[in-house]
Amino acid sequence: MDSALEAEDLHMTFLNRFLQFSENITQHEPVKVTIVGGGATGVELAAELYATVDRLEQYGVHRLHHNSLQVDIIEATERILPVLPEALAKKAQSTLEELGVRIQTNRTVKGVNANKLMIDDQEISADLIVWAAGVKAPKFLADLDLPTNRINQIEVKNNLQVVGHDQIYAIGDCAFLLQDNDCPVPATAQAAHQMAKVCADNIAAQIRGKELNNFTYADHGTLVALSHFQAVGNLLDELLKRNWLVEGKVAHLAYVSLYRRHQIAIHGYGKTLWLILVNLLEKKVKPKLKLY
Ligand SMILES: Cc1cc2nc3c(=O)[nH]c(=O)nc-3n(C[C@H](O)[C@H](O)[C@H](O)COP(=O)(O)OP(=O)(O)OC[C@H]3O[C@@H](n4cnc5c(N)ncnc54)[C@H](O)[C@@H]3O)c2cc1C
Repeated sequence: MDSALEAEDLHMTFLNRFLQFSENITQHEPVKVTIVGGGATGVELAAELYATVDRLEQYGVHRLHHNSLQVDIIEATERILPVLPEALAKKAQSTLEELGVRIQTNRTVKGVNANKLMIDDQEISADLIVWAAGVKAPKFLADLDLPTNRINQIEVKNNLQVVGHDQIYAIGDCAFLLQDNDCPVPATAQAAHQMAKVCADNIAAQIRGKELNNFTYADHGTLVALSHFQAVGNLLDELLKRNWLVEGKVAHLAYVSLYRRHQIAIHGYGKTLWLILVNLLEKKVKPKLKLY
């Protein structure tokens, strides 16, 4: 999904399938959604889809229950949520399985068309297929005269200058930088945010002829919310050098506060306060589901 239009398309197709399911009393097969990739995006989406089924029922779409939806997650590695500690990934897995999600690990999708997936040697059909197996940087980056990797990210040095081009910097999702542990800096908002700060300082330093700083990624943790059913995550405490594993209400609270911090970074305290008030009001008066 690359655009709001594609998100709208997914939304409408999903709703239409359920309206058809609800109207057709002879249809006993559940609506099948297959998600490729058991990372945070795929896992959060799976839970949200079940929450949507609950809400549709509240809107008078009859004969719906969790059995009306069959979500399959296909994951190439041995477990879902590889970025989280195993105990938390297991907790998330059991929550999803209780909802009815089927999780297939160690399975690689080899081909896909509108309604079919080739998984290893098996072919399976689905009403909707969502690709949530990671992103690739745009193709035009590979066509620039800059060093790029397999997924079109631009290779940068520790100071975030593009390799071989000291006058160009690359940061965020489009930049490829290996850390000391040989893992690339992840394509996440927290990494992009940290890179932006170092990049701004380095541009100023370069103009003044001063020494540039090296970028070191500080992982502050990961939070995954399974709609209102569950939330899990780990928060890394720089001060105490501790890794806090959180779940349930605490994780949910951390998830919400992170979102608000993100809004503060973009809009400032004043506007964020207004946004909180607007959200509270909307919660009371706005429908929980967009049916058009
Ligand atoms: C579904 C989803 C969920 C995510 N959830 C999380 C999360 O919970 N936590 C987290 O840390 N990260 C998350 N991420 C990752 C996070 O969104 C990215 O890592 C972050 O946005 C990267 O910032 P960026 O500025 O590098 O790129 P972007 O935010 O993608 O910004 C790039 C901008 O450049 C514009 N652009 C592209 N090409 C051109 C061009 N040729 N000319 C001009 N403009 C152009 C784009 O339109 C876009 O506005 C998620 C990503 C996705 C897709």
